[in-house]
Amino acid sequence: MKYIYFFEEGSKDMQNLLGGKGAGLSEMTRIGLPVPPGFTITTDACKIFVKKNEFPDGLWDEVLSAMKKLENITGKVFGDEKKPLLVSVRSGAPVSMPGMMDTVLNVGLNDKTIRGLIENTGNERFAWDAYRRLVQMYGKIVLGVPGKEFDEAMDETKKKYVRKNDIDLTTNELKELVEKFKKIIKDHGLEFPQDPYKQLELSIKAVFESWNNERAKVYRKLNNIPEDLCTAVSIVTMVFGNMGFDSATGVAFTRDPSTGEKVLYGEYLANAQGEDVVAGIRTPKPIKELEKDIPSAYRELVRAAEILEKHYRDVQDIEFTIEKGKFYLLQTRSAKRNARAAIKIALDMYKEGIITLEEMIMRVEPSHIDQMLHPQVDEKVKKTVVAKGLAASPGAGIGKVVFDPETAVKLASQGEKVILVRPETMADDVHGIAVAQGVLTARGGMTSHAAVVARAMGKPAVVGSEEIVIDMKMRQFESRGQVIKELDTVTVDGSAGLVYLGEVPVVTPGLTPELQEFLSICDEVRVLGVRANANTPEEAKRSREYGAEGIGLARTERMFLGKDRLPIMQAMIMSKTKEERTSYLNKLLEMQVNDFVEFFRIMDGFPVIIRLLDPPLHEFLPKELELTSEINEIKMKLKDAKTLKDMDPLIEELNERERILKTVRALAEFNPMIGFRGCRVGLVYPEIYEMQVRAIIRAALKVKEEGKNVIPEIMVPLVGIGNEIKIMRERLIPIAEEESKGKVKYMFGTMLEVPRGALVADDIAKYADFFSFGTNDLTQMTFGFSRDDVEATFLNRYIELGVLENNPFEVLDRDGVGELMKIAKERGRKSNPRLEIGICGEHGGDPSSIEFCHIIGLDYVSASPYRIPVARLAAAQAAIKHKKNLNK
Ligand code: PEP
Ligand code: MG
Repeated sequence: MKYIYFFEEGSKDMQNLLGGKGAGLSEMTRIGLPVPPGFTITTDACKIFVKKNEFPDGLWDEVLSAMKKLENITGKVFGDEKKPLLVSVRSGAPVSMPGMMDTVLNVGLNDKTIRGLIENTGNERFAWDAYRRLVQMYGKIVLGVPGKEFDEAMDETKKKYVRKNDIDLTTNELKELVEKFKKIIKDHGLEFPQDPYKQLELSIKAVFESWNNERAKVYRKLNNIPEDLCTAVSIVTMVFGNMGFDSATGVAFTRDPSTGEKVLYGEYLANAQGEDVVAGIRTPKPIKELEKDIPSAYRELVRAAEILEKHYRDVQDIEFTIEKGKFYLLQTRSAKRNARAAIKIALDMYKEGIITLEEMIMRVEPSHIDQMLHPQVDEKVKKTVVAKGLAASPGAGIGKVVFDPETAVKLASQGEKVILVRPETMADDVHGIAVAQGVLTARGGMTSHAAVVARAMGKPAVVGSEEIVIDMKMRQFESRGQVIKELDTVTVDGSAGLVYLGEVPVVTPGLTPELQEFLSICDEVRVLGVRANANTPEEAKRSREYGAEGIGLARTERMFLGKDRLPIMQAMIMSKTKEERTSYLNKLLEMQVNDFVEFFRIMDGFPVIIRLLDPPLHEFLPKELELTSEINEIKMKLKDAKTLKDMDPLIEELNERERILKTVRALAEFNPMIGFRGCRVGLVYPEIYEMQVRAIIRAALKVKEEGKNVIPEIMVPLVGIGNEIKIMRERLIPIAEEESKGKVKYMFGTMLEVPRGALVADDIAKYADFFSFGTNDLTQMTFGFSRDDVEATFLNRYIELGVLENNPFEVLDRDGVGELMKIAKERGRKSNPRLEIGICGEHGGDPSSIEFCHIIGLDYVSASPYRIPVARLAAAQAAIKHKKNLNK
């Protein structure tokens, strides 16, 4: 078995074997870009190591001969005192896990080889800086000595010699530091090995082991990355960015990952090694300044960026090092980007002819669209800035300040909103970032780990805010003369790079012109229609703005909850006779006409499905407990009442309350969601639906007279028996006709949300012009899971236990509920080929469920207003993914 590939042997298609980094280094070598020589140990080797906790047979021999070959290529010798070869040992999984695993630099340096390094470079200070880094990194990563002990020794030395930055330390001071670092290791009963091959062997093992460190595990869980991929290890000849001010190390994106702008974007540190940039120890300079500092290297970077972007046909995130003016590439990978950038980049690259229309659509994720609809700080509101830093990840987050990820996790699990404040941007914080509303750090740049992770998660982040002074002991930070204590509330504005005192009002940006353009291209590709679940005129308006092509579900019940209507509704429910009931319904009729008029006006030219009353009637009455305590209160007051005048109104009130209580008790059900609701109420009290149908047609006529195009669809809920819809149709169509007198066209249909309804869909379809799957109830009744109770009780446990992969109320269960939908569609269309079929359960806004609706050939999905843009994208992606199915 071959465990090692030199860079010239690999390619970008070998990600699984060589990891992202190894494949990238190989590909760059192959296309002639400047990469230091090196080789990659495969993920297969790591897989065996993780299992056996030792190198696979033959690996070490392969490493030894690869090192010999590397010596031949470089003309240097590993462990040699005169011309020492130094290497870095770098992690790199098949899927990008920025900063989650370990890397050791300068391997091969020891008390002897350092002399050669000094001689060859003529730079003593640099050599000792490289050595102290090796001892420090080796101590922390390979030997497991707490990193903070080295940091403290570093701080002490800086304090002792009054040095502000690491780079201000002199040669002698660095020598002293090397000794201190070695002693720290000794004090732990360990040793820094002088044998370079020992250094190499243990570094490789440590990188393999880092696959299973805590932060890597958390990151994998959060990002659904399989546990068994393992990491590759690349051994790369060292090039040095810390050889003076004609040397540098940096990170660049071929386009701006926050805005998508087509400009080289990134940052670098002169006289530094790679880990300084990502660990956020010093705050780096913007990439543009490199043009002045080292112009020739800047030109090479620009050229490499152009070549790589065209070659990979995507925005690249590049790591580079400049050694005495010579430019080297150390990594390239597809760049993480925020939503706004993802959309602009996809659109621009399509227009530039770099990617196809289909690729453009597939490159934007549904979650990106969600992020576009994220809250942003209201610009008009006056606010107090407490800190300014780099705008690392957009959006606004409000919460209580916490200073460590553990507290963040603890408070968040209690339902608190938290803002994670950290001195530096460390990868170890990922679990804290995941639960926080936002992140603030004192140091670090735009490409630091916390910034990258927050951006990918869509969490607002402000990093590198150098004005804040964090006191971890006192658990507070100071900035601009203010002290912010743990649990004080702040607002992080990751779009502006500002942090405000207290809670600042936020607004949602809505659709940018680019998002609009992108979504309208999606509209041309998708086959599914997209409608809205809208219950109020405001929601209907927003849905139109977001691109809904009509209303797929207007729930009428909420219209009866207004202060002016509820008492009438309650009186109607408590009516003893049909006449009494009708008299109250007549009062509601005019109100309903006005409700519907607004919908039809807003949806001019688009269909509006109005669902007849659905919930159990007791939902309109006060709760039993409330009533009994009110009754008790009135009784107490009655006891105290002295005169008849005082008593009379109380008695009247008492009678009224008792009358309602009686009705409430009469309507009480153990299981109201499968009880007296939907068309069952409509059949028993036909006057209710009759009123609603009259109101729909009257409203339609009225709006039609205004010159608008009205397309009403009347929808009956909870039908499971053919006769239910048959009788409904026989009763309601004559009323619709009586009202419309042929002047307005309408459709009459049903929800399919009772499993039996799906099975007898052929019968139901005889009396329906359309079906709309109510997958909330259909899921409830198919699983026998109560939609109101299950999630609080055992459903999460079910997912943890692996009984279910997803929450079926969020992601449509294709095997069960989906199967019923397929049956219903086939049987329904068989008896009524013109049947229009859609979905209006919550699944209508979920990408995976939308894909399923496309596969089974529904006409449209209906989603809540904020999910409509997501639905437009998801429908287009489904159409692209299943193109072959369509052409069949
Ligand atoms: C459904 O059951 O899926 C549905 C849309 O109706 P509701 O949620 O109002 O019961
Ligand atoms: Mg329902």
